[in-house]
Parts: sequence; structure tokens; C-alpha cells
Amino acid sequence: MKPKILLIYTGGTIGMMKDPETKALRAFDFSKLLVHIPEIKQLDCEIDTFSFEEPIDSSDMNLEEWRNLGDVINENYDSYQGFVVLHGSDTMSYTGSTLSFMFENLTKPIILTGSQLPIGDLRTDAKENLITSLQLAIQQDDKGPIIKEVCIYFEYQLYRANRTAKMNAEHFEAFSSPNYPPLAISGVHLNIDHKLLWKGRVDDPSVVYAEQSRSTKAEQLQTSKPVNEIMNYRPDLVDKVVVLKLFPGITEEVVQAICSIEGLKGIVLETYGSGNAPTQKWFVSILKKALENNIRIVNVTQCIGGAVSMGKYETSIQLKKIGLVSGKDITTEAALAKMMYLLQHTDSVDSFRSYFESSLRGEITA
Ligand code: ASP
Repeated sequence: MKPKILLIYTGGTIGMMKDPETKALRAFDFSKLLVHIPEIKQLDCEIDTFSFEEPIDSSDMNLEEWRNLGDVINENYDSYQGFVVLHGSDTMSYTGSTLSFMFENLTKPIILTGSQLPIGDLRTDAKENLITSLQLAIQQDDKGPIIKEVCIYFEYQLYRANRTAKMNAEHFEAFSSPNYPPLAISGVHLNIDHKLLWKGRVDDPSVVYAEQSRSTKAEQLQTSKPVNEIMNYRPDLVDKVVVLKLFPGITEEVVQAICSIEGLKGIVLETYGSGNAPTQKWFVSILKKALENNIRIVNVTQCIGGAVSMGKYETSIQLKKIGLVSGKDITTEAALAKMMYLLQHTDSVDSFRSYFESSLRGEITA
């Protein structure tokens, strides 16, 4: 039997054309998109398609759209060997990170791709991106799909989605994954680096989050599958979060205003270098107050690569002392997604910290 792939179109440049009046690019009809790429019929798989009713520029991505996308994948999960999601590149790393947490114990690939030039453009990068994404999604061995995680494929490289950030608005090579190597490189051959692929959390049952879920246990009894082989769809996320990027000269007023947002539950604090921040008393005391008010604060670095290491410099010791969570080498995009997810599924500061600082989907080097 040929593998079956569901190709989902959310929007993005890949399917855009110029508005005749404003001359700005906007998303258009999915059927017109596929007309430009008859080559996909030659692939050794069956492809079904699903399009968002109103395709969007990914700058309009939000929690509701993430749930719509997650629901489509979840509802079709058993019928397909994998999923390829066409998505704008602007927020693709956020969506990829979020999907990676929504789908626990993934047993199939979800590959996001898009392009820098519309598919109708003569020099488009869309065709290679789409064709190779489909080819990667159908890779299987005698146990089933080889890739069992959420990935981004762009310009000859397959990345773990929750390790990526969009780095370039001009080059075809738009993404980078500074703290984790590409999972596959497409050249003359499709070179998948099997040892880098996500293998799940089989080795670490004490923190297998699924074990806390009663419904999962019930399913486990019915299917007699080990708990870490049952996919759990967890679409609920908490949106009362903020990213606060430090800059020299940031004022007390600004930090105070952010920490006083009504109902705020979490702050992803983008600090300097290996997790350093101003040592002024007002700064530390506002953060301390926020932590006492049950706001979780995660320390991530503004640097493109490398990790937070609180305590390495004097300028981060105080952050460690008051109890910030270390984001280690996580990207801001993945930190935000992980925070939205863990705020929904943890009650205490300690469990939030212990899950955040460990690797749930390969998003952090723990
Ligand atoms: N603005 C577009 C989007 O993110 C850019 C792209 O598709 O690459 O939807």
C-alpha cells in the first residue's frame, strides 16, 4: 500500500499572489497552488489535501488557529502516515514549537514548510521545499514512519522545529537551528541522520508526563500499548504570557508595567549572553515580587546560539537566587510554546521548573 499524506495549507507566501490594487502579497486559493506543481503526482504516495477556509499570512497566527490546525491533524491522525503543513515562514518556528508540545508521543512526522517566493514565481523555492517535505514524510521502515516529530524543512535542510528560529527575510535559507544540528540534508541523496531523530522519552519514565493522565491510562489498558507509544493530543494552552527583551536603559516603569499586567501567568525573559541582567535593586525586586505573585519567569538568552548558565557571572547570580527557571539553550519561540503548555498542565512552581528544565520534545539540552 502506498503511504498516505495529508497536505494542509494554512497560507503563507507559498500560495500568495499580488493584490492588483495594493500590490501587496496575499494568500489565495489552494487549488490554484497545486496547479503549479504537477510533479507531486510522480511521488510514490497518495496525497489528500486540506485547506484552511481562509488562508492566512502567518503573522495572523494565534492560539485559535493553532487549535484549528492541531484539530485537523488530530482528527486525521490514524488515517495518514504523515502530515505536511504549508505555512508562512514568519511564525513557522512558533507554530512548529507549539505543535511539538500539543502532540505528545508523536508516532508520525508533521513537517512544516513554505517558501520565500510564491509558487507561481519563476525563481520560486516552493517546489523543492514541498516535494522534499513530502518525500521525507513518507520515509518508513518495517516499524512504520522514521520521523516521529514536528520538523521544518526549508532550503535543503530538515530541522527539529522547536530548535529553529527564522533568521533571514531575504535568503532562501531562512531558518537556522543554532543549538541542534539538522536532522536531514537534501543533496543528491536524502541524508537523514538517524541518531539525531527524536526517539521519545522511553528512557525516563519518572518524568513521562503522560503517566499523570487518567484517560491515557485507560487507553493504555484497552490497547495494551506502553504509555509512551500512545499519542496524546493536548491542545489547551495558556495565553497570559509575555516575552520581555532586556536592553540597556530599560526603565523601572516599563518592567513594572509588564509585571503588573492583570492575570499575567508567565514571562519569557530574554537576557544577555549566558543569562545576565542588570543588577540594580529595583529590577531584581520587581521580578521577585512577580514570582511571589505566582508568575513563572524563564530566563532565555538573546544570543542566537549557546545557553543560559545562571551563576556564571555576578550579573545572573541574583536571578538564580530569587528562583528564575533556566531556559538553558532553548529558543525564545520554543520557550514561549513550552510555557503556554506547561502553565496549563502543571500546578506547582516545582513541577513547572522540573518539566521546563528537562527535555520534553528534544527542545532543550537538559
Ligand atoms: N509573510 C509571510 C508569512 O509568514 C512570509 C512567508 O510566507 O514566508 O505568511
